[in-house]
Amino acid sequence: MASRIRVRFAPSPTGPLHMGGVRTALYNYLFARKHGGDFILRIEDTDQKRYVPGAESYIQEALAWCGILPNEGFGISGDSGPYQQSKRSDLYQRELATLLSSGRAYKAFDTPEEMDAVRKAAEAEGKVWQYDASTRMSMRNSFSLSNSETAALEASNAPFTIRFCMPEKNHDVEFSDVIRGHIRVSTAVLDDKVLMKADGLPTYHLANVVDDHHMAISHVIRGEEWLPSAPLHVLLYEAFGWDPPLFAHLSLILKPTGNGKLSKRDGDQGGFPIFPLNWTDPTNGQLSKGYRENGYSPEAFVNMLLLLGWSSGGEQELFSLEEAVEAFDLPGVIKSGARFNPDKARWFNEQYLRQAPVSDWLSAFREIASDLVSDWSDEKCLSALDMLLERVSFLHEVLDHTYVFEAPDTIDEKLVAKKWKPETSGYLTDLKEVFEQIEVFDSPSIEVAFKAFLEEKSLGFGAVLLPLRLVLTGAGGGPSMFDFAAFIGREETLRRIDLGLAKVS
Ligand code: GLU
Repeated sequence: MASRIRVRFAPSPTGPLHMGGVRTALYNYLFARKHGGDFILRIEDTDQKRYVPGAESYIQEALAWCGILPNEGFGISGDSGPYQQSKRSDLYQRELATLLSSGRAYKAFDTPEEMDAVRKAAEAEGKVWQYDASTRMSMRNSFSLSNSETAALEASNAPFTIRFCMPEKNHDVEFSDVIRGHIRVSTAVLDDKVLMKADGLPTYHLANVVDDHHMAISHVIRGEEWLPSAPLHVLLYEAFGWDPPLFAHLSLILKPTGNGKLSKRDGDQGGFPIFPLNWTDPTNGQLSKGYRENGYSPEAFVNMLLLLGWSSGGEQELFSLEEAVEAFDLPGVIKSGARFNPDKARWFNEQYLRQAPVSDWLSAFREIASDLVSDWSDEKCLSALDMLLERVSFLHEVLDHTYVFEAPDTIDEKLVAKKWKPETSGYLTDLKEVFEQIEVFDSPSIEVAFKAFLEEKSLGFGAVLLPLRLVLTGAGGGPSMFDFAAFIGREETLRRIDLGLAKVS
């Protein structure tokens, strides 16, 4: 194992980054920082057919938004570049040449039609055909053909792929996964995987292993979907004569029901994002909403991902990125799949909205409510936020509390019908006089005056407070009425009482 901790996040630019991908990046980042190592971003773009324009910049922007910053790699530089596989062809060719000369790989000249024919023939007998030790010698490749036949094919520029020569059956591949423990797979189930395609480009397997070696990667932390490829990768390291990195395969993020992998469809159906940022599919123009655009703060999103598959072993749920760097390690990664809970995601955002100093939200609030608060002082904006932040899950939801910005158009009729007694309007008219008398119209003074008024009239809280709330806000719930009256000011309070009384009568 290399002595320095070096990990990489190696997405393929085939579309937007799924939140599971962001979690993989996060765990790599935390692990590297925890151990004073390197976190590398590598773009695995060998599959030209699946390449989607814009995907790389989406990945970079998403990582930047989350604060999961690589210290080396694509778009940053470093000593092991280039960090885009499409720019590393020479290296793959060189490494393939060593495998060919040591007999661990071979050239296969079988045409797609020939491959089809053997597959169909096997199917007809109810079998699944694969290119391996048992079938290899009956195919057209540099192992089965004579040297002169191979040379003639090469001279005629016949297309070929390069395949890995899987060891004979009955050979067990063994390795240990940091999260899953000891793993043993029989090569009987493995086939002679293509390492280089007929177009001369390497496949994922070859490029991935060659790059991890040449970039001195110490730990491969990646999604569970790559676990089936790991035995092949281990054999490739062995064939090259290289020490393999340590593997850590992360479990899937599961649907809210717990059944199966969380997919874009689940997000569409459940009304929650799957991607960190908005993504417009360039093929059909379809927009998928992102966490960012849905109003999540990156800290909340990252915190939510942290706990979706990792546990500190304690009760703490809120972690800043720095705290996560301290606390994170691979033994805390949970072996079973982590079920995604959209309500919990929202909960994290609420916690972040409420725990930060209110002033942190001032400029975003001014932006969101620009038309409504353009003539408000900062102080007034901050009092509005003070009242509202505990009532919303996302900052933009403050706009739903329209009474903060203007007198209510309507008053909850059901509540009026239920709670408005013949004497209620009179109480409010009397209360106006009380409010007019208050010297300094602030929340504590309003409260004192209001209570004295109730006492004088021998009234309970409910008889006047709810009606007051209804005329000031139009609804039955909301912030403290003393805070709120002080916030809108004496004049507006009196005006709203009049407007309300007119509406009710
Ligand atoms: N390019 C692979 C992916 O998109 C990376 C797999 C790995 O990390 O080895 O997920």
